[in-house]
Parts: sequence; structure tokens; C-alpha cells
Amino acid sequence: MTRPVPAIVILGNGSLAIARKIQQRYPDALIHGLAERVEDVDRSYHEFGATLRQLYQQDTPIIALCAAGIVIRTLAPLLLEKGAEPPVLAVAEDGSAVVPLLGGLGGVNVMAREIATALEVSAAITTSGELRFGTCLLNPPSGYALGDLELGKRFVSDLLAGHSVRIDGVAPWLDQAQLPEDPQAQRSIHVGSGEREASANELQIYPRSVAVAVSAGVADLPDTIRTTLRQAKVAVQALACLVAADTEMACPALREAALELGVPLRFVTAASDVGALARSAVPDATISATTHDIAIAVANQPLDVAQIGRPRGRLAVIGLGPGAAELMVPAVKAELARATDVLGYETYVRMAGPFRPDQVLHCTDNREEMQRARHAFELAAQGRSVIVVSSGDPGVFAMAAAVLEALHESSDPMWHSVDLEILPGVSASLATAAQAGAPLGHDFCVLSLSDNLKPWAIIEKRLDLAAQADLALAFYNPISRSRPWQLGRALEIVAQHRTPETPVVLGRDIGRPGQTLRVTTLGALTPDQVDMRTMVLIGSSTTCVFPRVEGGDWVYTPRWYGTKPAS
Ligand code: SAH
Repeated sequence: MTRPVPAIVILGNGSLAIARKIQQRYPDALIHGLAERVEDVDRSYHEFGATLRQLYQQDTPIIALCAAGIVIRTLAPLLLEKGAEPPVLAVAEDGSAVVPLLGGLGGVNVMAREIATALEVSAAITTSGELRFGTCLLNPPSGYALGDLELGKRFVSDLLAGHSVRIDGVAPWLDQAQLPEDPQAQRSIHVGSGEREASANELQIYPRSVAVAVSAGVADLPDTIRTTLRQAKVAVQALACLVAADTEMACPALREAALELGVPLRFVTAASDVGALARSAVPDATISATTHDIAIAVANQPLDVAQIGRPRGRLAVIGLGPGAAELMVPAVKAELARATDVLGYETYVRMAGPFRPDQVLHCTDNREEMQRARHAFELAAQGRSVIVVSSGDPGVFAMAAAVLEALHESSDPMWHSVDLEILPGVSASLATAAQAGAPLGHDFCVLSLSDNLKPWAIIEKRLDLAAQADLALAFYNPISRSRPWQLGRALEIVAQHRTPETPVVLGRDIGRPGQTLRVTTLGALTPDQVDMRTMVLIGSSTTCVFPRVEGGDWVYTPRWYGTKPAS
């Protein structure tokens, strides 16, 4: 199990050097810097409070290079809501102090020591048990689970009060601890996967050493698994993962059961029975309690789940929005963080970054859409978490349809088992419209003027009918070097149905550096004002323009049509 990657948050250039030093200790961590004050960071943010709260709510460990008080005040409103919390640390801007603030059970003290070592200072540890014993007994390393937190707290205060302790079972991480050990002690730290009665004299720690192989057909899977474990006297806390046959990969009941039990779900090649599944998943485990539907595999140390079979692959087709980070939906941000592989046209892949060193980028030429879609499925079918990147919305003249077409054409059950999701984005027409006002405020028609994938005759026909129907028009792919004359022809067709005064909005590189927005008219519009990075919005007969106080114009198409309703 890997620890979550921390976020290093800074407010100014003064702390960048210290931030980089900390980043050397956590190479996957990204440095988040305040946009107006710091350049050359991995992520820019505009609002410190909102950023910190979002990271906290996403369970991201936070290393904030600022005063502890700022962090406390920022996160205070969230503290009561939450059970488990990520580690949160304040580090002095000059690197002279490391203060663990929250997340004692999430390993904040371990991180504080790691950072302090990197900065050659000592960490401000205030947890008594930790100070006395050199480790937090209530926070066993990954691969182990604490039995009961409340009993555990009492147990630790007993030890602090002078009781001695013996270790019962294998606890390699306690070798370095300074515990008041005594083989005759009444109190014990018990490490084992067997189910035990809760006792105040025992700190129970379960190695996550158990895999349960299941067949998807079982009714009420989570309860059946719990009952079977109980009957086998195996603690449910020792459960490391569920295992199923790869032929059942897309089964929702399996996914829900794993979610409810809070463990990962892994798949192995289908076998004659669940016992065989369990054996192939964990070859050196003891297989017990094999029923027709469930088999329990108990290993003698924590399982490395990443080595067991493979996960269900995921393929997310995402839209970045027009470019600006604020216009990217949070679901897309989360998906970018979880991806193992990123596919797309190089410009968009770069726009979606930065990525961690462990994330594989597959940049391709813009034209190879179907090939890219098939490549994405091949990777996802191996159990990887794949992203296909589009700008704007992936369903608008972009990759989502190509991905679905590739799936539709395939008879490979592994492709159909992939966890496929399309995540929307702000499309260029909507981003441009919003900056101009509301030119698409009434019925409108979206067209691509590219005749690469459709005959020009159909474009002319649709333009003619849409213009005749008095719809506002949004043109994607309006012009390119290989399609120089098409826009001029399109404007001629529109002009047959609209007056020269019809408002036109030209948005170029909207949401990207150097963006421009122009409001003009149909009569004044010429193709040389437009390039392939431009969105062309043409108003309907009701579209209006009026000046803004700060300069430029507002453009809108009213909600009503025909006669204005009385207000
Ligand atoms: N899926 C994208 C559109 C891809 S087609 C989306 O939903 O936005 C590419 C065309 O979209 C370009 O030729 C241009 O007309 C338009 N476009 C894309 N991004 C743009 C931006 N940031 N500003 C203006 N137009 C843009």
C-alpha cells in the first residue's frame, strides 16, 4: 500500500527553496503556489483558503509553508465534520520549524520527522505516547490495522502511567520502539489475523493478510463475507482484498461489496472454483472455509495487494475545458491525479499536466483518433487507469464518440469489462459565449465546419437550414490551412438569411494565455479574422449588443422570441 502523495502549499517566492527541499523527500508531491505571487510551481491557485480546504477534504496530506495559525483558522470550520483526517503540517517559511498539526492517526508525526530530517531541524512532536515510545502505537504501518481506537487510547495511557507490555505476534516495526517491555507483563500488543474478544489489556493489531475469493452470484455479498470470516474465526479487520474471476469484472455487486468492506477488488483468471481462485491469487496462503461461493486465503504476513491479480481497468474520457484551471471540473482534476496513463494530442496532454514521474504519457498526432481510442482500451484492459484527454468537452467534436465507436466495434469481453466513464468539460462555444455575455441565450446550433470527416455538401445544407431557422450559430473548426475557402462560403450562405448587422463574436484561445474576444457584425466579418483557434458565434435576428462601462460590448440573445412578454 502506498501512502497518499502530499501537497506542498506556499504563499510566496520566499518559501520556494524550502518547498523544493521538501519535494526532494516526497518526489511525487506537487508544489502549489499562489498565482499572483509565485511562478514556476507545479500548480497555481488563486485562493489559499479554498485550496487548503479542498486538499483537506480530498484527504491529501498538507505541508503548508506558513504560520500554523493561518492553517488552523483556515481548516477550523471543517474539523468537527470529519472522522479520519489527513496529516496537516505547518513548516516555517525559512525551514527552521516543523509543526505537525492534525492527522495523528494518519502519520503526521512520521512525516514531521521525515521533513525535519530533510531540513536538519527537529520536529515539534507533542504527542506523549510518541515522545515516550518513539512511535505512535495507534498508527501501525500500512499493511496493519488497529483493532479499536478508543481501547487503544486507554491502552497507551496505561503504558504512559507505568504499566509494562509484551508483544504477542510479529511486529517488525516495533523493533526500534522504546517500549516498557516485559515478557511477564499483563498487557500485550497482539498481532494476528484471528478474531479476538476486545480487551482493555490487549492492543489488537491485525495484519492485512487475508484475501477472500468470491463468486459474484452470492446474495448480500458483504454480509455473507463477514459471516464466513466470523465462522472461520478470522477478523474482518485482517481482510486485505476481495478476489474474483476476471469474467465477472463488470459485476456491480462485487464493486459495491468491496466498497462497503473498504478493501480493493482484484481479479484473476477464471478458474474451476473459488478455492482455485484464492490459490492462484495468494499461492503461499492457507486456504480455508471453502464453500461453493467463498474461499478464505490467510497468509502469514500482510499481503501486497498490488501483486495480487490485477484491478478492473478504468478508462476516463475527460474534457479539460477551454484551458484555464478554474474552468476544469473537479471530477476531471481527481481523475488526472489517479491516472496511470494519459493519451491525447500532445498540446492537450501538456495542458493537462504537470504529471508525476510514474504517470505514462502517450502523445499522438491529432488525426489518429480511432487508433488512440483502441490503444486506450488495450491499456485499460490490462488493469491500468487510463485517461483520454480532449479540450473543452470530450463529447463535442472530440474523443468521446471515437472511444465509444471503438468499443462498439470490439467483441473483446475485456474491453467491455473496462470501467468506462466520460467526464464533461466546458466547451469552447460556452466558454466564449460566457465571456461575451449570453449570445447563445436562446435556441442555437453547433456545427463543425471541417469537411475532413463529412462531405462539404451536408455542411452547406445544415448551414442553410439552421440559418433559415433563425438559430444562433456556433462554428467549431472554422478554418485551417488545408480548408481555406470553406468559411467564406459558409458566411455567404448565412448572409442569405441574416442582415449584415447581425452580431458576431470571435473568441480566440479563450481561457488560455493571450486570449482575445472580439465583437463584430456579419457584414464586417472576413475569413482572415479567423483561424483554427477561434470560435465563431453568429447571432440570430434577436441578438443584441450594448456597450459595457469598462469598455467593449455585451452580447445577448433574449430568452423570448417573437413578442417580448409583459414584465
Ligand atoms: N472538444 C472541443 C472542441 C474541439 S474542435 C470543445 O468542446 O471545445 C476544435 C475547435 O474548437 C477549434 O478549431 C476552435 O474552433 C474551437 N476551440 C477549442 N478551444 C478553443 C478556445 N480555447 N478558444 C476558442 N476556440 C476554441
